[in-house]
Amino acid sequence: MKVTADREVCIGAGMCVLTAPAVLDQDEDDGRVRVLDADPPAEAHPAVREAERLCPSRAISVES
Ligand code: SF4
Repeated sequence: MKVTADREVCIGAGMCVLTAPAVLDQDEDDGRVRVLDADPPAEAHPAVREAERLCPSRAISVES
């Protein structure tokens, strides 16, 4: 899995961080998403896919 996040479109809503905290975080300065683990282990994949689905700005992309 390859996880990327577009910080330009992120609105800092934080849904992703709540859903997949092991993989996604929010920048302390601007509140926008940061990818902690771009190639997360299999057990994290469902949460990352859910975070991708829930993001209101479609900022998160996941490639299998
Ligand atoms: S859910 Fe989307 S808009 Fe909200 S912080 Fe995460 S990437 Fe940004």
